[in-house]
Amino acid sequence: MTGGEYGVWLRERQNEQLPRMMRLCARAHPHYRRVLREQGLTADDFRTVEDLRWLPILHKREYVQDPERFRLRLEGVAGLAPEETTLAEVIYTSGSSGKPTPFYDTVHDRFARIHHLGRVATIAGVGPQDTVMNLFPLSAVPHQGFLSAMWGAMAVGSKLLTGMTGSAYADYPVHKRMDDAIEMIERERATVLWGITTYVRRVVLRAQALGSDFGAVRLAMVMGEPCPRPMREDLRQRLRALGSAAPIINNGYGFTEVQGPAIECVEEGGRHQAVPDQFYTEIVDPDTGSPVGDGEPGLLLISHLNRRGTVLLRYAPGDVVALTHERCPHCGRWEPRFLSGPHRADGLTKVRGTLIDPAALHEQLAQLLRQGIAEYQVAVTREDRGDPFSQDKLIVRVACEEAARERAAVAVPRLVKQAVEVTPSVEFLPADGFAEIAGSYKFSRFVDER
Ligand SMILES: [Zn+2]
Repeated sequence: MTGGEYGVWLRERQNEQLPRMMRLCARAHPHYRRVLREQGLTADDFRTVEDLRWLPILHKREYVQDPERFRLRLEGVAGLAPEETTLAEVIYTSGSSGKPTPFYDTVHDRFARIHHLGRVATIAGVGPQDTVMNLFPLSAVPHQGFLSAMWGAMAVGSKLLTGMTGSAYADYPVHKRMDDAIEMIERERATVLWGITTYVRRVVLRAQALGSDFGAVRLAMVMGEPCPRPMREDLRQRLRALGSAAPIINNGYGFTEVQGPAIECVEEGGRHQAVPDQFYTEIVDPDTGSPVGDGEPGLLLISHLNRRGTVLLRYAPGDVVALTHERCPHCGRWEPRFLSGPHRADGLTKVRGTLIDPAALHEQLAQLLRQGIAEYQVAVTREDRGDPFSQDKLIVRVACEEAARERAAVAVPRLVKQAVEVTPSVEFLPADGFAEIAGSYKFSRFVDER
């Protein structure tokens, strides 16, 4: 197949699915019924995915404000299969603030998810020979990571283990401790660890303290958070120290609204969209909304082409990414790849008048993880917390052993200054000082406390 042939095949698959999606939206989607009426459009005006440009960009805040408005209401719609109308799951996005936003899957969408995660596992090289350890927590609010590791392993016939970690729940004592999960990895000779980036690293750190044998582990699937190169190297060295011969670190990129991650075929080779026929992807200039060239960074927009629960069209999660349609030089696949790490379109923040990019800061500071530092967090606060007009202050909280403090006190300001030209103050915590924060679903490496 050539690139042209793949492109034609993909566009045909997308265009085949669009009319049905638009008819359902026109009939039963509270938000799009209104938008179509306001714009004087009908479902028949959408013949190809390019026609989606008639719709306005949907920003995350609009969806978060009223998620029920973005859910198909298919009760009473004739001619649908039970899979299409039966609610299977509610997954929540872990928003940065406010209450979690529900994302609805019918059974149809659950099957789409299984298909998607099967492709993810295949691209990552996970198969029947593997024993996958699901290290996502049993959380108070369900997130998709747990389902990703579960369906991914099951779809490709891997053996599946589950750590069942998370905050204890008094009425039903189903949660297990991290140490139990570590013991299971060792005893069952798990080959794949699949979880949130910082949590997988914490498991590995704890396993080192316990002197565990992770000799069978060959792959760490780390999701939900970036894993810059120095952090990969740190994780790799630690896994080696636990007996793993040549560990691979695979850092996916995804979010709830695309139901599963885009995934690496080789480390840092770009992240393949696993099921590009299920989503129409646009990369646009954030200011003008016009498409950018292939491989150039821009605002990511995704449109669901075949869902029955929550349906979003031209949805901007707020990430700036670059997507290439060139054939992958590493694995030969045609599925488009996200290049380099995504960053938040709205992620920049001002500290003392200087624009700060938390992603750039993280790229620099991740080196610390190889230099005897257990964990760190960057906080923007005020010199005087009681005075709202007081000057901004940048703090780096560093968790490490006493012996590493002297070196960190020099290295941290130097690294921060290189990234953002602001001199921070450094606060020290005990080596396990972040254990409690990091134990919740996601650990915020950058917090704005102003
Ligand atoms: Zn590839």
